[in-house]
Amino acid sequence: MTTRNSILEWLIIGGGVHGTYLSNALIRNRVTKHSDLRVLDPHCEPLQEWKKCTENVGMKFLRSPKVHHMDLEPLSLKHFAVCKPCDERQYIPPNDRPSLELFNRHAEYVIDRNGLQKLRIKDMALRIEPGRSFHTVFGSEHIYKTKNIVIAAGNGKPYWPDWAAMIKAEGAKIMHVLEDCFDKKRIPEQAVIAVVGGGMSAVQTAISLASEHREVVLISPHSIRVNNYDSDPGWMGPKYLQKFRSEPNYNRRRRWINEARNRGSVTQELYSDFSLLRKNKQCRFYAGKVELADPVSSEMILLHLNSGEVTAANAIVLATGFEQGLPGGKMISGLVRNHSFRCASCGFPIPSYHLEWWDGIYLSGTLGELETGPSAPNLIGARMAANKILSSVRK
Ligand SMILES: Cc1cc2nc3c(=O)[nH]c(=O)nc-3n(C[C@H](O)[C@H](O)[C@H](O)COP(=O)(O)OP(=O)(O)OC[C@H]3O[C@@H](n4cnc5c(N)ncnc54)[C@H](O)[C@@H]3O)c2cc1C
Repeated sequence: MTTRNSILEWLIIGGGVHGTYLSNALIRNRVTKHSDLRVLDPHCEPLQEWKKCTENVGMKFLRSPKVHHMDLEPLSLKHFAVCKPCDERQYIPPNDRPSLELFNRHAEYVIDRNGLQKLRIKDMALRIEPGRSFHTVFGSEHIYKTKNIVIAAGNGKPYWPDWAAMIKAEGAKIMHVLEDCFDKKRIPEQAVIAVVGGGMSAVQTAISLASEHREVVLISPHSIRVNNYDSDPGWMGPKYLQKFRSEPNYNRRRRWINEARNRGSVTQELYSDFSLLRKNKQCRFYAGKVELADPVSSEMILLHLNSGEVTAANAIVLATGFEQGLPGGKMISGLVRNHSFRCASCGFPIPSYHLEWWDGIYLSGTLGELETGPSAPNLIGARMAANKILSSVRK
């Protein structure tokens, strides 16, 4: 392990959607120079997690509108689409939601134009040691010294229910769609596949896996709910956020976040696509929770639902989202345990209005949600985080 002797101005931990957006915002707003900023991430390319997850689920169009993207100016993607149109359909209603293809091409253009790729260091942050004049970040390859840190480490681990973890340990054919190792090509063509989950990822996965010879069984804990938004758009601005941020009781803030999120809901067009597949008998649907899974052979798993129904599948794909707890692993829990960084009783950080958790240590994404609200993990959450961090450094 080597120590980098020069002290950086800024180190961003995590180079996904949030980390990459923040690096762009810091450079373009002249808060720092390319030479004084680095983005630490174990992946070689920016947005690798985003690209893998959205490809795995077979996403075609974003849920968010065309003004939410990786550039700073809201109309940037719209202008890009005019100058560099693609053959496929570019937007769908409501709110002109861009295709994934357009979003990703535009993101690559933004990364290229602003030299964001060369800011990256391939490394994993393991521990942060806060200091007075600089902080020290211990990576798996190097040690870094930096005056400011932004932690943008993403959504945490994919969620495996107990029954699923148990049959995986027994060698059953089960995988999680949000995992790096998920590979659609390994799913047999002539088979019955059970997709477990009730939100956008589950319905998109079911649609993308259904084919002429493959029947998909979608098992959702509830009937399919339709909602075009992750949460009410009022959470993106002062309508709800003003009251949220003036609420001193963090248990109440947590409750509002949980209530505001339209978990387990899908957009209207996905609902229609899925209904069509059901009509054509390419998909079956069960509303119920899996209580027990029984791998009766290497080719067949029986799934017992709390509704009393039993269904059989040749393989299972989980689309159960991410673990609900605090993301960031030991890197975050170490800060709380060893340095008494402030947390609410739900375990999540309590940062300042400017998302500063400690002098010069900022949060973006899920980790900052007790300040940024229910949209914190989303694309618009990255913009909200950047605005707050920028206003802090300009103070
Ligand atoms: C299938 C899917 C579809 C979505 N669609 C939309 C949508 O349409 N609109 C919307 O607004 N939002 C959407 N979201 C939500 C959200 O925008 C994404 O989850 C987004 O990728 C979150 O960005 P992030 O940077 O926080 O996390 P990520 O993109 O996952 O990036 C986190 C990065 O941090 C790195 N990292 C983690 N720990 C460390 C460490 N210790 N050291 C160094 N690096 C580390 C990881 O390797 C990763 O590269 C979607 C999410 C999913 C899963």
